[in-house]
Amino acid sequence: MHVVTKALVLREVNYKESDKILTVLAQGQGKRTVKARGCRRRNSPLAAPAQLLVWSDMTLFDYRDYWSLNEASTLEEFRGVRADLEKLALGSYFAEVTEAVAEEGVETPGLLPLILNSLYALDKLRKPTALVKAAFELKLACLAGYEPLLDACAVCGEKMPEEPRLNLSAGVLHCGGCRGEAGEEGISMPLDGASLAALRHVAYGDEKRLFSVQVPPASLERMAGACEGFLLTQLERGFHTLDFYKQIKLPG
Ligand SMILES: [Zn+2]
Repeated sequence: MHVVTKALVLREVNYKESDKILTVLAQGQGKRTVKARGCRRRNSPLAAPAQLLVWSDMTLFDYRDYWSLNEASTLEEFRGVRADLEKLALGSYFAEVTEAVAEEGVETPGLLPLILNSLYALDKLRKPTALVKAAFELKLACLAGYEPLLDACAVCGEKMPEEPRLNLSAGVLHCGGCRGEAGEEGISMPLDGASLAALRHVAYGDEKRLFSVQVPPASLERMAGACEGFLLTQLERGFHTLDFYKQIKLPG
């Protein structure tokens, strides 16, 4: 069976002399493991599309649940991400997290647009990378079924909590003073007014305007800590690509 689709490469592993095994996220297909035969040969038409973080038109061929990439033509290479080690490391983290939550053969609504928009933001928009990373992490958690409750303090119901905090394991907001009841278990990350507003914008706002939020630097730092901590706590794991990103990230 042939499937004509558009897909983003989330992972590439060299195989034999000239092949690669790719993990792709494909429109209408979810995650697929695909063999790209001969793509490491010079002049192979699959050479460019079979690279990490390249978005392409693809023709996939399925024989007994064994997928191969027959034809492909590149749509977007995200050159600005590829040319910058820090952005490439962050993009690789986006790909690893996406692979972790994507399902084989089943599309998770919103997941493909989220990673494409996040890569586009790193590539073309002049947004702080910390904002793109935090928004990606929180939105991905929501799409994967871990939407936090950010409307009001989970204990007293106050919509604008004083010294707001996000409890990472329960995924609820609470006031600093209400910690006793909401946050006894696990870690609660400190927020403030601007970072809470940004979290609400990302979780509940228009996904096409995900990165259209102004966050002052000190609040962005709180937002970043809360979003990363929340995602890793909910997924109950870490990521090698995140460790690498932190090693090479320039200060500030
Ligand atoms: Zn409260």
